[in-house]
Amino acid sequence: MNRIFLKSAAIAFASVAASLLLTLIVVPAMGFSVNRTIWLTSTVCPLVLAWIAGAYTFWQSDKLKSAHRDLARTHAQLAATHRRLAEKASRDDMTGMLNRESFFAALDGSRRKSDRGALLIIDADHFKAINDSYGHLTGDEALLLIASAIERGVRSGDVLGRIGGEEFGAFLIGATEQEAKRVAERIRREVELIRFRPVDERTVPLTVSIGGTVCGEDSNVSELMRAADRRLYQAKHRGRNQTILDKDISEAA
Ligand code: GH3
Ligand code: MG
Ligand code: MG
Repeated sequence: MNRIFLKSAAIAFASVAASLLLTLIVVPAMGFSVNRTIWLTSTVCPLVLAWIAGAYTFWQSDKLKSAHRDLARTHAQLAATHRRLAEKASRDDMTGMLNRESFFAALDGSRRKSDRGALLIIDADHFKAINDSYGHLTGDEALLLIASAIERGVRSGDVLGRIGGEEFGAFLIGATEQEAKRVAERIRREVELIRFRPVDERTVPLTVSIGGTVCGEDSNVSELMRAADRRLYQAKHRGRNQTILDKDISEAA
């Protein structure tokens, strides 16, 4: 408020100076003498009018600036909320991994950037039996344990997603066949090591079967999925709790 008062005072005094200068030039040029009334009018009018007009203008401008600041703050808050919602919408609520759609989008993005990498599809073995024996909620607990084991098995930076009920995808960025086999085997082993005790002291075994494929130069996401799915099917067919990547089999220990 003080600032507005001072700024409009400066404008008012500048207006008075301009008004006096004009009066001193124009009035004598018209053949009149500058008397007291003219002095007074050319001083008081600009002083009062310019002060009020200046104060009003500066006050409006301050109000606009403050509204602009509020808008910028609201805009930043909205952008942050939007980022949070987009992040939440891309995640599976239960495991916190990417959901199916986002996993494939990330996989597609990754494929565009680099040729190298491997896709694993990890499916819990005989999971229906766990639900049937212990109930769906206990099944959920087992699923969370499996998801954590998968997270422990991959390397940092690999992309993980829950692509179905008890089915997960892992895209191992830049992995060679050897590295992919090592990671797949580590995941299988981490799941096998889980000590799941849903009711009493008895441990219920949890295992996964894993099908994987290393990216060919031109293979697209659906071709990779088909190839990995075929290997997963073979792994199930050959007895489960094993990983098959390309044509090799790494049997469960
Ligand atoms: P397979 O070894 O052949 O994969 O046998 P499976 O029983 O795991 O396979 P199937 O496809 O017959 O059954 C999958 C089961 O996984 C059935 C479904 O109820 C269960 N399932 C899927 N999503 C969830 C989930 O979010 N929570 C729980 N508790 N169970 C789930
Ligand atoms: Mg299954
Ligand atoms: Mg399945």
